[in-house]
Amino acid sequence: MVLFQTTILGSSAAMPTSERHTSSQLVRHHNKLFLIDCAEGCQMQLRRFKQPFSKIDHIFISHLHGDHYLGLPGLLFTYHLLGRQNDLHIYAPAGLEEIIRIQIETADLIPSYKLVFHEIFEGGQPLYEDKWLTAETMAMEHRIPTFGFILKEKPGHPHEGKAGPRSYGIGSDTAYTESFLSQIRGVDLLYHEATFMHDDAVLAREKYHSTTVEAALLAKKALAGRLLLGHYSARYKETDAYLDEARQFFTDTLLALEGETIAVRDHAPKKTKA
Ligand SMILES: [Zn+2]
Ligand SMILES: [Zn+2]
Repeated sequence: MVLFQTTILGSSAAMPTSERHTSSQLVRHHNKLFLIDCAEGCQMQLRRFKQPFSKIDHIFISHLHGDHYLGLPGLLFTYHLLGRQNDLHIYAPAGLEEIIRIQIETADLIPSYKLVFHEIFEGGQPLYEDKWLTAETMAMEHRIPTFGFILKEKPGHPHEGKAGPRSYGIGSDTAYTESFLSQIRGVDLLYHEATFMHDDAVLAREKYHSTTVEAALLAKKALAGRLLLGHYSARYKETDAYLDEARQFFTDTLLALEGETIAVRDHAPKKTKA
């Protein structure tokens, strides 16, 4: 079985709470690891959940709000201290390379490994490709340039079940938008932020975030297999109500819970002739 899964490292919006870390997740496809955002405390979470973090060669940063990248400098310094040799590819909007370069120069450091920056500047931009998988960007609607990512297995990929290639769409911070709907149509797993409960829909719109119901409606429109909610506002201590609200509109909804791993699996296997 070729693994295709995500492990949730952080699920909080904006700031960490005593119960939740800010947003990061580690996607694994076969033997490749993709870190999606690297929030404060991310490297501690990687250790806590026993993830093989030295094998991460690709880091996707959705946007430059602190709750999505402030853990990156720490992780990069740790890699140097551990004597990392492999190139590390970082995909991010403009600005991050300069921030990291200043930190490295100020510390008078020559990293033990090569950092390769790839600038993200539009939705639909191909970012990554290997023998079995492709990744491209999706445009979000947020206060600063913000991108999601869609990872798709290539047709003919030899995963168990042979029902067809699997796909994982990872949204980031966004107001409700259908700008990336065509990219996630039929996606097997969709991660979508739900910073607010639907009572706070006006606030969500003001702050360029989404609600439980909006995430569920988009998943429904996209004919997604399953919806994974995350990026919960610190104002909500419990998240069970999130699930109840979203499931009224999209039954196959899950909550992103730190330390849990969710498999990307086919949701609409094609019938084959006997
Ligand atoms: Zn955020
Ligand atoms: Zn943001």
